[in-house]
Amino acid sequence: MENKKIPYKIYLDESEIPTKWYNVRADMKNKPAPLLNPGTLQPMKAEELYPVFCEELVAQELNDSDAYIDIPEEIQNFYKMYRPSPLIRAYFLEKALDTPAKIYYKFEGNNTSGSHKLNSAIAQAYYAKKQGLKGVTTETGAGQWGTALSMACSYFGLDCKVYMVKVSYEQKPFRREVMRTYGASVTPSPSTTTNVGKKILAEHPDTTGSLGCAISEAVEVATSTEGYRYVLGSVLNQVLLHQSVIGLETKTALDKYGVKPDIIIGCAGGGSNLGGLISPFMGQKLRGEADYRIIAVEPASCPSFTRGKFAYDFCDTGMVCPLAKMYTLGSGFIPSANHAGGLRYHGMSSILSQLYHDGLMEATSVEQTAVFEAAEQFARVEGILPAPESSHAIRVAIDEALKCKETGEEKNILFGLTGTGYFDMVAYEKFNDGVMNDYIPTDEDLQKGFDGIPKFPGNEV
Ligand SMILES: *Cc1c(COP(=O)(O)O)cnc(C)c1O
Repeated sequence: MENKKIPYKIYLDESEIPTKWYNVRADMKNKPAPLLNPGTLQPMKAEELYPVFCEELVAQELNDSDAYIDIPEEIQNFYKMYRPSPLIRAYFLEKALDTPAKIYYKFEGNNTSGSHKLNSAIAQAYYAKKQGLKGVTTETGAGQWGTALSMACSYFGLDCKVYMVKVSYEQKPFRREVMRTYGASVTPSPSTTTNVGKKILAEHPDTTGSLGCAISEAVEVATSTEGYRYVLGSVLNQVLLHQSVIGLETKTALDKYGVKPDIIIGCAGGGSNLGGLISPFMGQKLRGEADYRIIAVEPASCPSFTRGKFAYDFCDTGMVCPLAKMYTLGSGFIPSANHAGGLRYHGMSSILSQLYHDGLMEATSVEQTAVFEAAEQFARVEGILPAPESSHAIRVAIDEALKCKETGEEKNILFGLTGTGYFDMVAYEKFNDGVMNDYIPTDEDLQKGFDGIPKFPGNEV
């Protein structure tokens, strides 16, 4: 095992694509806190969630006990179009850094949507179709989720209505056109097509929008249109479940060569790629079979883990969704307008929040100019032009590899390369022109968001 030369790309065979998703909640001693009904403050029952989500997805959302859940054959077949994704040994980056560390990355950008989001989009579209629905609604920020969902919906002949954060809608016209090419309708959010959108526009006429606001609009349309449900591309337990294919494939590939990662790094927006990548490793850690250092990387301008509160909060700006217990900056938090690098959601997956709270993983934040420096360094030696989101993980992987250079340690570093950055060239342009700057919210800025966290007994922040 030890001497087997590790190839640049560790491809798996089609037959090695997982046939079951792994549900890390089954191995968690402290389960993530349940969603609460904002009116009664009682845990949401399945029936209460049915008007919003597909029934099968509700079952997955609430399932804390089954470690493995079968991937339906139609989803397995769709996965074969673009999976298994390669696990790449970053020989060129190691050489450029002159580090004894061994760096691996799992690349999820090899599909038209350009990111890992398709892994969950196809599952959510499948269950919507199976339930006989006409279509689904959703929000999209940077656009990858909307694109992935458009692809998945066109595959199953479902209608897809996307509410796209206004600033992205304007900055990324090509993203929008990809979605429309796959048959989706795309509306900039906030819009006048919903009550909640009109209300937000009346209060903040100049707003450039936020994910929380687009979620409120998409939920309103889903619950008021017959034959529609709402789907979400991150944060939820079901999404982390679907994304476990990333980690399961990674583990199979590394096991073939007897490689055990010492450090596992992923960027964290709502937590789905990181949750998926670490799931099987975290499972071992929870069962006491192995130990890993796991690091979530977030933008310094949207620091949910590192500066947020662990509390029940609204998932959306319009406060129409259930309350989730998570690390949060408050549902009214909007990152500063010069923040370019995605990962702008105010909250975090309840699963990851609980794991972080229990000390099973770490989190760190990085500034965007340092992120783009890492992105550029990576692109120049490894060839792939990374998404700004993914580049948060690259930044920390490089920093850890440079620490190994000082100590001489030959650590195995694994990170998730979630996608490509071809639609982020406005941000790259700013970086290349030297006009990108960093903005770190002050404590006063953050307090405004915290003030909006609901207050009730047991939820003091
Ligand atoms: C959506 C997205 C992310 C962040 O979302 P998570 O749910 O935290 O994974 C990261 N990278 C890319 C390329 C994305 O599209």
